[in-house]
Amino acid sequence: MRLLLLLLPLLTGCVGFHPYQGAGRASESSGAAEAASSAPAIWQPEWTEIGSSRENRPLRVARLGHGRRRVLWIGGIHGNEREGRISTAELPRALIETPGALELVTLTILEDVNPDGTARNTRGNAMGVDLNRNYPADNFKPSRLFGLRPLDQPEARALHDLIELERPHLVIVAHSWHDDHFINFDGPAEHLATRFSQLSGYRVQSSQGIAPTPGSLGSWVGNTMGIPILTLEYHRGRDPWAAWLETKAAILAVVMEG
Ligand SMILES: [Zn+2]
Repeated sequence: MRLLLLLLPLLTGCVGFHPYQGAGRASESSGAAEAASSAPAIWQPEWTEIGSSRENRPLRVARLGHGRRRVLWIGGIHGNEREGRISTAELPRALIETPGALELVTLTILEDVNPDGTARNTRGNAMGVDLNRNYPADNFKPSRLFGLRPLDQPEARALHDLIELERPHLVIVAHSWHDDHFINFDGPAEHLATRFSQLSGYRVQSSQGIAPTPGSLGSWVGNTMGIPILTLEYHRGRDPWAAWLETKAAILAVVMEG
């Protein structure tokens, strides 16, 4: 019960997202309210808005670290796949606690590129467009579900512009899959997917082994831009805290190791 109380701000926090309302260490104090007020705030995110959704919800990024290796973590792109939300909240703390990490890495957290879908619990955005299919890759396929033109959705455009501007060395995007978990990659990321697999037990699933993904973020980032991208598929319905714990070491490794 007490744990539930402590986790409640995180579990309900998809809208009012605070990456450093930590769940674990507050239990050392007496009482949830006291713990919340006395917990050391070692990272206070300064959110920057990179755009707005169809329904005018902010698309927010926060950064930490000052290393040469630039990594972009995308907390969610399909609104009905929220198993990675604790990972999104906990990754900054884990990086801070890893000696030397902040000198090695500059991490950009995009908390959710599809806040309208998250609010509705739908895969697509408010227009019903899949924001993982709306990019200017060679295989883009115009349709009502994928968008009539690449980047005709404001959320996809904002993410596209962020990646063009920052040119990260690695992009990781959290999803969930209906009946399994695995790590998928596009572009020059096979070694990172293999490393992730070794540390998490998640199998590597090639893009060729999945249904075609025209105009996907992975196709554009990995194949068109030549930037390594990992698509992290948690198991749909998995407890988000457990999902984080079983992938924490793997995520930290690929964030820090080029
Ligand atoms: Zn997905």
